[in-house]
Amino acid sequence: MNRFAFAGMPQRVVFGPGTLGDTAAEVVRLGRSRALVLTTASQKAAGAALLAQLGSLGAGSFAGAVMHTPVEVTEQAMAALAAGNADCVVALGGGSAIGLAKALALRSGVDQVVIPTTYAGSEMTDILGETKSGVKTTQRSPEIRPEVVIYDVDLTLSLPVGLTVTSALNAIAHGAEALYAPDRNPVVLAMVAQALGLFHSALPMLVAAPGNRDARARVFYAAWCCSVALGQVSMALHHKLCHVLGGAFNAPHAETHAILLPHTIGFNAGAVPDLLVPLTALFGDSAGAGLHDFAARLGAPTRLADLGLSLADLDHAAALAVKVPYPNPRAFTQGDIRAILQNAWDGVRP
Ligand code: NAD
Repeated sequence: MNRFAFAGMPQRVVFGPGTLGDTAAEVVRLGRSRALVLTTASQKAAGAALLAQLGSLGAGSFAGAVMHTPVEVTEQAMAALAAGNADCVVALGGGSAIGLAKALALRSGVDQVVIPTTYAGSEMTDILGETKSGVKTTQRSPEIRPEVVIYDVDLTLSLPVGLTVTSALNAIAHGAEALYAPDRNPVVLAMVAQALGLFHSALPMLVAAPGNRDARARVFYAAWCCSVALGQVSMALHHKLCHVLGGAFNAPHAETHAILLPHTIGFNAGAVPDLLVPLTALFGDSAGAGLHDFAARLGAPTRLADLGLSLADLDHAAALAVKVPYPNPRAFTQGDIRAILQNAWDGVRP
C-alpha cells in the first residue's frame, strides 16, 4: 500500500426509500429557512410537489436547469434566487439540476440540499463544469460541494431503462478511472470494488424488471460510491474526452460516457492491468471487450455516430482533447485520440 492522503467526506448523506420526506428537516438542520427548488423542465411537476411539501420553507422554484450548466441559465436562476430572497437551494434531479445548484452556490454562497435521481454522481463532488460559447470549463472549490445529499431510492423508479443503463455506465466510468488514479486511496478503492460488483449483478436485474426496488437500492448505493470516487480522486482520458464532446457538441452526457467507456478503458488497460483487476475480475480479462459486451447486453447505445456527431467533429474533438495536458496511465497522441473516437463512432468491439 502506497502513501496516500484522505480528505474525508464532509457531506451529510441520507439514504433510503422515502427520504425525500426529510427535505424540510434537512433545510432546518442547516439553519436555513428559504429554499429555492431547482429542476429541469421535465421534472417541473416533481419540483412543484417538493415546493408544496416544503411549505413555509419554500422560496419558489426554477425549472430551467439543462445539461452542461450553461452560464446564461445560471444567470436566470440567480435572478430567481434574488427574487425569492432564498438562503439555500434544493436541487431535485440528475447532474443538470445539481450542476445548477453548484453554480448558484459558487456565486452566492447559498447552502445546497441535493436530491439525485440519476446515477451520474455530481452530488458528492466539488467539481463544476460550466459551458460558455461552446467551451466547457471545469473548476473545483469547497463552495461547490453540496452540504446535504438525500438519496431517495423511490425517485429512481421513474428512470427510463435507457437512462438507467447509460447513467449507471457513467457511474462505472468514475469507478474505473479511480482504479488507476495517481491519487487513489484504499477507502475509495474499497468503495469502487464494492460498487462494480453491485452494478455487475444488479443492473441486468433492473433491465429485466425496472421496478425491482432492491436492485434499484443496490445500484443507487453503488452510484453513491462512484460519486465519492469522482469527488476524491483524479479522473483521466475517459472523462476528458466526454467533457470535450459535451462542451463542444452538446453531446448527451450519460450516452457519451456509455459509448466511450469500453474504448477509453480498453486503451488504458494494457498500461495498468494489475490496477484494473477489480474490473476485469467481473467483466472479463479484456477490459474494453468485457465492458462493450456488458453494455451491449443491457441495450446501451454503442455508436457515437448515433449521437449525430460527424467525422469532422471527431477531428475537432481530438485536437481539443490534447490542447491541455493531464495525467493518464498511458501516453497518447492526437492520432491515438482520433482512433479511439473513430472506433467509438463506428461502435466496434474493442
Ligand atoms: P440530467 O440531469 O440532464 O437528466 C437527464 C434527463 O432525465 C433530464 O430531463 C432529467 O430531468 C430526467 N430525469 C432525471 N432523473 C429522472 C428520473 N428519476 N425519472 C425520470 N426522469 C429523470 O442528466 P445526468 O446524466 O444525470 O447529468 C448530466 C449533467 O451532470 C451534465 O451536465 C454533466 O456534466 C453533469 N455532471 C457533473 C458532475 C460533476 O461532478 N460536476 C458529475 C456527473 C455529471
